[in-house]
Amino acid sequence: MAEKVLHWIDGELCDGSGSQIVAVENPATGKEFAQFNVASDSDLDRAVASAQKAQKKWGALSIAKRVDVMYKMRQLVLDNQDKLAKLIVEDHGKDYSDAIGEIQRGRETLDFACGINANMKGESSTNIATGVDINVIRQPLGVVAGICPFNFPVMVPMWMHPLALATGNAFILKPAMQVPRVSLLIAELYQKAGLPDGLFQVLIGDKELVTSILEHDGISAVSFVGSTPVARIIQETGVKHGKRVQALGGANNHAIVMPDCDLEFAAKHISAAAFGAAGERCMALPTVVAVGSAGDKLADYVKKHADAITIGFGLDEGVEMGPVISKAAEERIVGLIDDAEKRGATIVRDGRGFRPEGYPDGHFVGPTIIDDCPLDAPVYTNEIFGPVLVIVRAKTYEEAIKIVNAQPFGNGSAIFTNDGGVGRRFALDVEAGMVGINVPIPTPVAYYSFGGWKNSLLGDTHIHGPEGVRFYTRAKAITSRWPTDSGPYEATMSFKRED
Ligand code: NAD
Repeated sequence: MAEKVLHWIDGELCDGSGSQIVAVENPATGKEFAQFNVASDSDLDRAVASAQKAQKKWGALSIAKRVDVMYKMRQLVLDNQDKLAKLIVEDHGKDYSDAIGEIQRGRETLDFACGINANMKGESSTNIATGVDINVIRQPLGVVAGICPFNFPVMVPMWMHPLALATGNAFILKPAMQVPRVSLLIAELYQKAGLPDGLFQVLIGDKELVTSILEHDGISAVSFVGSTPVARIIQETGVKHGKRVQALGGANNHAIVMPDCDLEFAAKHISAAAFGAAGERCMALPTVVAVGSAGDKLADYVKKHADAITIGFGLDEGVEMGPVISKAAEERIVGLIDDAEKRGATIVRDGRGFRPEGYPDGHFVGPTIIDDCPLDAPVYTNEIFGPVLVIVRAKTYEEAIKIVNAQPFGNGSAIFTNDGGVGRRFALDVEAGMVGINVPIPTPVAYYSFGGWKNSLLGDTHIHGPEGVRFYTRAKAITSRWPTDSGPYEATMSFKRED
């Protein structure tokens, strides 16, 4: 009997009233183990109504009381880390230590939210005219929603909800359908932390539910993280319906490897960045541009590290890399490798058809290294989102940076070099939102904001950190004058500047 996955509306678990039934599969075993009915429009209406009611009180509560809930939640996430990580591994497939890592990175936003008292301060000026002051405060938007991808079931929603809640909003989470269960545990933890019912809710569904969220009058803003084509739909539809939207899209992160770098150091980090989480990270490193002589040895150096990776089910001892999310993902990735081979690229390490012992029906692709890849190969031009490293060659830095900047995404980008001048030049030249110098995955800590350029981010607001606070609040400028004992108060609708 398959486990029944429920939704979380107004502080309790409840069945979805949509007619579509969706199965949840463990990608390592290929076996379906749970299922759920999607949330319907009436479920959404119910969630929005209870969110609106709860938000009125929550938004007016003292910051100290909201922060208190955030501190308790932070501790509960820490105490329940193991439980959360196991759910991530079973639904998503990543290995246990990577799941712990994502929870820790997600918790950083809870840390930041605990300091919201210092981080949502307004501005004020005194005597902008005689006896007149201006005070700019930031107020919550109301009910906001988050639509999330499958690849970070805890961390990506945590880029959103701690800040949305700490700033005084109610939050409706729409997790990806492949990884629904861990969000329900997060909901329970918020309840234990003392968050009033209705402020954090989880509705599971796909395109239809997302469309209803985007069109719902009761929702003021939508945060989205996922692929670029869907980010575009979210931004266009959300804006058309008067919503504030932040939409983070896909990526094809590149690193330049300069001939002067420490190649052993670079290879180790490139292997981890390309194959960690089976390449299913928006900050994964699927492409390296090897400059000059760096190209002669790089593939072999990376292969040594790739050969040492233990692959399997993420809860088994010692496993460092799991499957990809689905059979369809495996077939797509294998198809891209087949095509690159036909185009004359060298397959230095071939992960096609790989199956770890005991998991014949899992959706695995072993670490794959493709050298000398032509720039028109789809494995290079597409976001692979699998454990594949593509190496392209360039003769000079100038040629390499042109290749990096010609691609349509601009999430993260890195350079490996021992020359500080080249590192600095790269940081200024590269068209990407997050840059690493000898750091292959330059994901900012949560007290800075996260976001890419070009097709990796639509709209202008990055996520979490200071930009997250701005996104979930709106400014109100209050100009005031008060009668003083130095003279009678003259009621007037305007004030006169005397300077
Ligand atoms: P996806 O775009 O397929 O799905 C994301 C969310 O949108 C899911 O909740 C899904 O149910 C919903 N959705 C899917 N199709 C939709 C449609 N047509 N209309 C409305 N909603 C729809 O992404 P995914 O496969 O779940 O995740 C992988 C993608 O996310 C990759 O492209 C990856 O780069 C990207 N990602 C980006 C970042 C970032 O910070 N830029 C972070 C993580 C993942």
